[in-house]
Amino acid sequence: MRVEYNYLPQEFADAEGVIADWRKLITTTDFTLGAYVEAFEKRFAKHVGAKHCIAVNNGTDALILSLKALGIGPGDEVISVTNTFYATIGAIVAVGATAVLVDCDDRFQIDADKIEAAITPKTKALIPVHWGGASPEMEKITAIAKKHKLLMVEDACMGIGAYINGKHAGTFGDINAFSCHPLKSLNAMGDGGMVVTNSDEYAAWMRKYRNHGMVDRDHIEFWGINMRMQPLQCVVLDHGLNRLDNTIKIRNRNAAILDKGLKDLPQVQIPARLPGHVETFALYMGLFERREELRKYLIDKQIEVKVHYPLALHQQEAAKKDCRFDAKNLKNAEKQADLLLTIPVHQFATEEQMQYIVDTIKEFYAK
Ligand SMILES: *Cc1c(COP(=O)(O)O)cnc(C)c1O
Repeated sequence: MRVEYNYLPQEFADAEGVIADWRKLITTTDFTLGAYVEAFEKRFAKHVGAKHCIAVNNGTDALILSLKALGIGPGDEVISVTNTFYATIGAIVAVGATAVLVDCDDRFQIDADKIEAAITPKTKALIPVHWGGASPEMEKITAIAKKHKLLMVEDACMGIGAYINGKHAGTFGDINAFSCHPLKSLNAMGDGGMVVTNSDEYAAWMRKYRNHGMVDRDHIEFWGINMRMQPLQCVVLDHGLNRLDNTIKIRNRNAAILDKGLKDLPQVQIPARLPGHVETFALYMGLFERREELRKYLIDKQIEVKVHYPLALHQQEAAKKDCRFDAKNLKNAEKQADLLLTIPVHQFATEEQMQYIVDTIKEFYAK
């Protein structure tokens, strides 16, 4: 049995609905901002429960736009986690601030109990990451931000469809970022990203910054840049939103089969699933003894597993610049980088495939 990691051929196998709407869009020639972008922004804001959504090029831009709007720049420190995608830290560096790296907990999320020790007089903001589509302890982190008067940007790039006690991921911070990269939970045919906020002021500033700082065709209020989402992608995402609940439901069903099948293996550590948390399973991750051997074994058995990622970010050469951390406090992330494996649980994987994965891992450890 073969279990593929990439589900995009199936996700977009039937694109007739998208193409029909593209034909309508093409007749309007509304190719920059316009009605399709506005409609999608309204729908997404409503979906997550935020007042404003601004659609941009990608998740990285969404993070940069958020930090820019909050006035974060040179001399400021922003606390985030060392096991995230490059873009979280790249965005902090792109606005000229210093990234302060904190360790993760046993659920692969920023360790909320280690944030306060990283705060200095220069700390301006926190960026908790919804890593893999699970969520950090957002209530705790929100309380820390409040207590220390820090701004907060959630990196909810993998968190579309994730909830914490009924509240959507990416609705706790001042401004929050989402991605629609083809391997998250809501997929563009290419790149896409959004920010959401409840602040009228931040929203108005971001709409202008996204579009050159323009107030009208002939006037700018300040120097901005072009971060506009393509209307063609808004159409794709609008169709994707119709499927999202089902996507998340099937991923959760698949993840539950792995959780149940693997939980009694002493060589495997599956992260706890917190009550009240709904995960998107953008990544299904666990820690596996003899990871490299197991990885090769599974690939040999046609199960396409991945590693996200073999290095924590403080272990990257690039972290010597623009980042502040003490490696001896980041041991959990280093251990996870050595042992973690990402297993496909996407919405086109079947229960039989999940059972095949469980059986194959058991077979490996029985040897
Ligand atoms: C994907 C991702 C990003 C960047 O999103 P893009 O749309 O690829 O630019 C940022 N942060 C995290 C945690 C991500 O997973």
